Amino acid sequence: MPEKPEVITVARSLEKKLLGRSFLSCQVYWNNIIVSPTVETFEKQVCQQVIQKITTRGKWIVLQMEKDSLLIHLRMEGKFFFRKATCPKEKHEHVIFTLDDGTTFRFHDVRKFGKMYLLPNENLNQRLPFKELGYEYNDSHLTGAYLKKKFSTKQLPIKSALLDQSIIAGIGNIYDDEILFLSKISPYRKAKDLSLKECQLLIQNTKVILEKAIQKGGTTIKSFTSEEGVHGLFQTELQVHGKKDAACPQCKKPIQKVTIGGRGTYYCKNCQK
Ligand SMILES: [Zn+2]
Repeated sequence: MPEKPEVITVARSLEKKLLGRSFLSCQVYWNNIIVSPTVETFEKQVCQQVIQKITTRGKWIVLQMEKDSLLIHLRMEGKFFFRKATCPKEKHEHVIFTLDDGTTFRFHDVRKFGKMYLLPNENLNQRLPFKELGYEYNDSHLTGAYLKKKFSTKQLPIKSALLDQSIIAGIGNIYDDEILFLSKISPYRKAKDLSLKECQLLIQNTKVILEKAIQKGGTTIKSFTSEEGVHGLFQTELQVHGKKDAACPQCKKPIQKVTIGGRGTYYCKNCQK
C-alpha cells in the first residue's frame, strides 16, 4: 500500500495533467468505491468545477476544486491512467472522468479496495474521513509529548501503534520498519512503555525518513506506478524493510522477519531494543 511519500509523488504527477482542468463527465462502474455522496450525485457534482489544487492528507490524495474536494485513497493497488476517450474501458477501470481537453482520467483498481469521497471544501477537516486522522508527519503539533500522551493507553506493540492513522497520518508498513530501525527501538515494545525521549526520537526520525523518501519520490511499488511513470528511488535506501537475512547495515547480524499485528515486520534483534 502506498504510504505518505508515494501518495505525495502520485499527487505531484497528477498536478501536471489536472491543474486548471475540469471534468466534463464522470462514469462510475464499481459503486462501492464511492463512499459519499451517492454515486448519482457524485457523477454529476464532480463535473464543471476547475481543479485548483492537489494536496494530500494522510494517505489520501485531495483534488481541491471550486466548491468541493475529491478525495481518493489508493488502498492496495489503486492507480491512475490518462487515456484517449476512444480507448475502450479496461476490465479494472472502475471510475472514468472525461476532462475538458477530451482525454480521460481513469481509476484502475484490480482489488477494488480504493475509496473516493466528494465533500464540500468548507470544514473539510471536520468531516469524515479527515476528522479521524492524526497529525501529518511535518505538523508542528506533532511533538514527543503528544505522542507520549497518545501512547499512554496503548497496550499495542509500537510497530502497530505507529500504523494507527489517528495518531500520525501517513505511515504504513515500510516506513514503520525504517523509523523503528533508525530509532533503535524494538517493534515489540509496548507503545505505552516508551519514554518521552524515545517518543521525541520517533518523531524526529519519522521526519528524517519521510522527508528523504519524499525527496526521492518514495519507493517503487509496482501496484501504484502509473503509466506516466512514478518510479521512486527510495527503494535503494531501505535499511531493513524487505531484507530478511541480509546483514544489518549497523552490526552485520541478519535482519529478522517476524509478524506483528498481522503485518510482516523487519528488524535487527541486536540493534533494536
Ligand atoms: Zn543490527
